[in-house]
Amino acid sequence: MSSGERSPLVLGIETSCDETSVGIVRGGELLANVISSSMELHRRFGGVVPEVAARAHLEAMPQVISEAIDKAGVTLDDLDAVAVTSGPGLAGALMVGVGAAKGLAQSLALPLYAVNHLVGHVSVELLRSEGRDLELPTMALLVSGGHTAILMVRDIVEDVTLVGDTIDDAAGEAFDKVARLLGLPYPGGPEIDRVAREGNPADYAFPRGLTHPKDRVQHRFNFSFSGLKTAVARWWEKNGDPENPQLVADVAASFQEAVADVLVSKAIDACQEHGVPRLVLGGGVAANSRVRSLAEERCAAAGIELRIPPLSLCTDNGAMIAALGAELIRRGRPGSDMSVSAEPTLNASIPQAGFPSHEEDPAQSEVQQRDVEDSAEQVEQVDDAFTGLVPKVAPASRRERKGQSTWLGTIALSPAFGIGVVPAILAVVFGHVSLGREEKRRGSVVIAVIAGYLGIAVSTVVGVILATPVIRSLLVAAGFLLN
Ligand code: ADP
Ligand code: MG
Repeated sequence: MSSGERSPLVLGIETSCDETSVGIVRGGELLANVISSSMELHRRFGGVVPEVAARAHLEAMPQVISEAIDKAGVTLDDLDAVAVTSGPGLAGALMVGVGAAKGLAQSLALPLYAVNHLVGHVSVELLRSEGRDLELPTMALLVSGGHTAILMVRDIVEDVTLVGDTIDDAAGEAFDKVARLLGLPYPGGPEIDRVAREGNPADYAFPRGLTHPKDRVQHRFNFSFSGLKTAVARWWEKNGDPENPQLVADVAASFQEAVADVLVSKAIDACQEHGVPRLVLGGGVAANSRVRSLAEERCAAAGIELRIPPLSLCTDNGAMIAALGAELIRRGRPGSDMSVSAEPTLNASIPQAGFPSHEEDPAQSEVQQRDVEDSAEQVEQVDDAFTGLVPKVAPASRRERKGQSTWLGTIALSPAFGIGVVPAILAVVFGHVSLGREEKRRGSVVIAVIAGYLGIAVSTVVGVILATPVIRSLLVAAGFLLN
């Protein structure tokens, strides 16, 4: 680390959706957080278009990096590491960020930390706690246009669990779609938030997805917003009037109430179920005034400490990615492998991608290897202690026993054995019976009995040959047998 004893200077790149963002931190201290959004380009489509977002990242990246460097008052040479979101997110968008980060890390000979976007949202807390240890455990409710998830964080590097997820639309996506329905511009979340201030949230009781008692078994902490969106659409088709601002406000407020209610109640339920006394909010929807006020109200009532980052750190940003990178360094983690790539479906329980632990943790396998060696040694010691006392009868290993039964089974079922041996046995049995009874055709009966014995021998040999894998595969290869 070039900065000696000082905390590492980390540049973080975030491009999982429509924000091209670069943040720079020194340990837990935020130095710069530059965000350039391609939201305007998506406006006429009413939602993020992945290819448009990827191209916009490409165009914005150099400018955003140099702006962040200037703002932080550092130079590229001062950096100790580069961090980047490798997933989850839009594949093309992620690729641009990962490509840029690799190029930067490679050219500056710095370690690369490919990190998880969702865990990044929780890492904002590292900045707010200014490098002190993050207060854990905490639950995190992460709600944006692409994600709606509840994460349980017992350790931000070692122990993150996905407690709940959306089974269809993300909450932000529902805000955007319902806004379009009501004739409001994209992005719909802030628009609904704005018009809902004039509306009555109790006017329409829209459905709360996955809150039915039967859903508690499988989907207690999961979300579903597609039914809510359809319910609003059906209602609006019949009764809607975009020219009536009060109606728009009432529907917007009622829809927003349904979303806020289900988000907050499930997050608090997760805290209580897992005995976690803290809740962090993250993602663009955490900017929603009703989500915030309801979370404050209910967390206070339930004795849960609520943490909501400032807006610029709530939405997608590079600072949170840099903060997670700095934390990984502080915890002694090596950089990710340079072959790491964009991982659009990266699991929330993997804070760092391209790190050996997720394929095979060398430390872990060393421990396992030691365990195996230790137990082998113990077995040997016990064996030695019993030598001479108990006659050693080596029990057949499972594989041997399995092998035997396979052999016997194959011989018994072998068509050659089945077809050949039955008439042969019959010939032997009837031959012996006839020999005892008649004297006349004794010669031919003896021949029949001998043929019977021969038949048994031949079919057994053929059966054994066919049941022998090597011979069998040779016969198959030579075209004498079908596999
Ligand atoms: P992403 O870009 O991954 O979707 P963001 O953190 O940028 O994540 O969140 C954008 C989403 O947040 C959009 O769907 C937007 O409508 C929603 N959003 C932003 N502000 C608000 C708000 N005040 N109320 C509700 N939703 C909001
Ligand atoms: Mg966004």
